[in-house]
Amino acid sequence: MKSIQSMLIVMFLSSSLLTYAQNDQALTREIFKELIEINTTHSTGNTTEAAEAMAARLKAAGFEDKDLFIGGPTPDRGNLVATMRGTGKKKPVILMAHIDVVEANPTDWSFDPFKFQEIDGYYYARGSSDDKAMASIFIANLIRLKKENYQPERDIMVALTADEEGGDHNGIAWLLENYPPFKTAEFAINEGGGGQAKDGKKVLNGVQLSEKVFQSFTLEVKDPGGHSSLPRKDNPIYHLAKALTNLSAYDFPINLNDGTRAFFERSAKIETGQLAADMKGIIQNPPDAGAVERFSATPYYNALLRTTCVATMLEAGHAENALPQTATAIVNCRILPGEDPAKIKQQLISVFDDNRITVTPIAPAKASPPSPLDPQVVGPIEKVTAKMWPGVPVIPVMSTGATDGAYTRNAGIPTYGVSGLFSDIDDKRAHGKDERINVKAYYEGQEFLYQLTKELTQPIKVGSKR
Ligand SMILES: [Zn+2]
Repeated sequence: MKSIQSMLIVMFLSSSLLTYAQNDQALTREIFKELIEINTTHSTGNTTEAAEAMAARLKAAGFEDKDLFIGGPTPDRGNLVATMRGTGKKKPVILMAHIDVVEANPTDWSFDPFKFQEIDGYYYARGSSDDKAMASIFIANLIRLKKENYQPERDIMVALTADEEGGDHNGIAWLLENYPPFKTAEFAINEGGGGQAKDGKKVLNGVQLSEKVFQSFTLEVKDPGGHSSLPRKDNPIYHLAKALTNLSAYDFPINLNDGTRAFFERSAKIETGQLAADMKGIIQNPPDAGAVERFSATPYYNALLRTTCVATMLEAGHAENALPQTATAIVNCRILPGEDPAKIKQQLISVFDDNRITVTPIAPAKASPPSPLDPQVVGPIEKVTAKMWPGVPVIPVMSTGATDGAYTRNAGIPTYGVSGLFSDIDDKRAHGKDERINVKAYYEGQEFLYQLTKELTQPIKVGSKR
């Protein structure tokens, strides 16, 4: 009895010396639920309310007001930056997640999209994967680190932001302009990566290093028009239709960058058969023609290989019985990082091959440089991945869509999309119906981000010389 008591005391002492706080899953779940159930859609939502709720959680855990910044361009578009102070030995890190969500029409869903619920091992709700999972995890992890009296070597700035999914007041852009400490960050962790599983088996842990650049163009043909009983061959609709048909037959040249090359190189090692052979073939110089052909037929691989431009909207004419005076189309391009949007426009003009058509960018392209494969970030990602999921490779990815990483990369802050949140590649529901996240994957992702945050902010182990 006595010896058991003393053993318990020793165990208690050693664990309190390590001051290692166990993860409180119940608290994490509560935070997640609270965040999900605050409406943060663009139409009727309010991110300030969500920012305030998360700040209140941190305050209850001992964070001081001076370290909880809430601000935004309008009263309902607030952002939160919560800072855990470091020793200042290194420059700060930003852990960013957006708290606005895509609209969800309740009648399209199997149940209320704004009510958090757990069914058969999944959490369901709008935002459960994009991006309130990461947002809630960052808050819960800050509370856990606070309980440990954790002392990072750099400030940890958790940023929960508005208007990533659309809207006029992107939160990251606003913070970069209006919250000076933001610009001092050395790098940032964001969404855009994530773990991929197939048939329940973990395949890879993706790190987003770059993303394609969004650029839409308006095509317009004008004409004096006239009575439709006296038609002419020279018709704006015909001009536009022919140009768009040219576009449908055109492929931009393939152009691999460091990130996509590394993606194919590392993926080839975990794939089999023709796909593995094509992944090796595509990185040859010149690339294997069969691989190019097969990849070009698959929308995802095609989008990795080249800039794409596609017609998305069409409008023409003003009356059933009149010759059209105007015909317009929207062509949406996703430009590879590093390619010049002005040159893409010139290429489009030559593909359309019709000087009656004016081609105008809708908004300036927001180009962003790819983040480097920096060992002080990628090293810890690989280390924690190997520890938690032995044998699962870390693979650089380029997003074909856009994230807030474009803003931070443009501001000179290398940004890495990584979450350790695994989902099945055949079960992507972000922005869609019955969005969900696997419960086990959620808490594993939380542990991954907790350990990664530590590796990034206090890499030297206890006992070694500091
Ligand atoms: Zn998102």
